[in-house]
Amino acid sequence: MRVTILGSGTSTGVPVIGCQCAICTSTDSRNQRTRASIMVSEDDRNLLIDTAPELRLQILKNGFRTLGGVLYSHLHADHSAGFDDLRAFYFKNRRPLEIYMLPEYIPELKTRFSYAFVDTGYGGIKPQVDPRPIEDGNIFVAAGFTVDPARLDHGHASSCGFRIGNFAYVTDFKNFPKEKIKEWRGKIDVMVASGIHFGTHTSHSVIPETLQLFDDLGVKRGILSHLAHDVDYVEHQRLLPNFAEFAYDGMTIDVLGPVS
Ligand SMILES: [Zn+2]
Ligand SMILES: [Zn+2]
Ligand SMILES: [Zn+2]
Repeated sequence: MRVTILGSGTSTGVPVIGCQCAICTSTDSRNQRTRASIMVSEDDRNLLIDTAPELRLQILKNGFRTLGGVLYSHLHADHSAGFDDLRAFYFKNRRPLEIYMLPEYIPELKTRFSYAFVDTGYGGIKPQVDPRPIEDGNIFVAAGFTVDPARLDHGHASSCGFRIGNFAYVTDFKNFPKEKIKEWRGKIDVMVASGIHFGTHTSHSVIPETLQLFDDLGVKRGILSHLAHDVDYVEHQRLLPNFAEFAYDGMTIDVLGPVS
């Protein structure tokens, strides 16, 4: 199974519009971050997590041509605004794309993108999707991948993390549930999780907290994503323990081992 980091940035992306800080003006491409999303691939199957505002550019840049489904962590704009670009996959598939999310997000999706759910008699100008509700701990199959969803707390909102075999993607959470640590501990070899920066945040786990989570879960390789413009890929790497590293756009991670 291969994981591709399509976007590794926090909600503003990096560079931040108008900012002239050292990281926003850095020429290191690993400091240039589109909004957070990943693709999970095996053989000819691709499963997308979130539709970032730069979805079209991310898909083209990484050479993906097909898509079997989408998992949504939640619908904040940095994770959903690229929804319209899912149209392109209908042109190929000719059937609605299955998209999975916590039940409360289905009405929110229909409000945010109401045009996609009105029957105009002409399908070409809107994404054709089939929203499916998911629940914490109820394992389901999407695009041929067995997915274990975890309901998380994201400050004033909720979000959903996903375990696919011995890999997990967890973004936009504040507190990771203690029961889920017990349940997942020892099951995850590779984890990509949001870390934002080294400071504090009211609705996000920050880097030291996410490192602690990697440790609590017994993760062998922990990758920090959803990064802000105060994280320098090279400079701050030195502050991380051996098992942890920063994500960057276009990074690929080969996950070996059981994927069920
Ligand atoms: Zn976010
Ligand atoms: Zn900046
Ligand atoms: Zn969010």
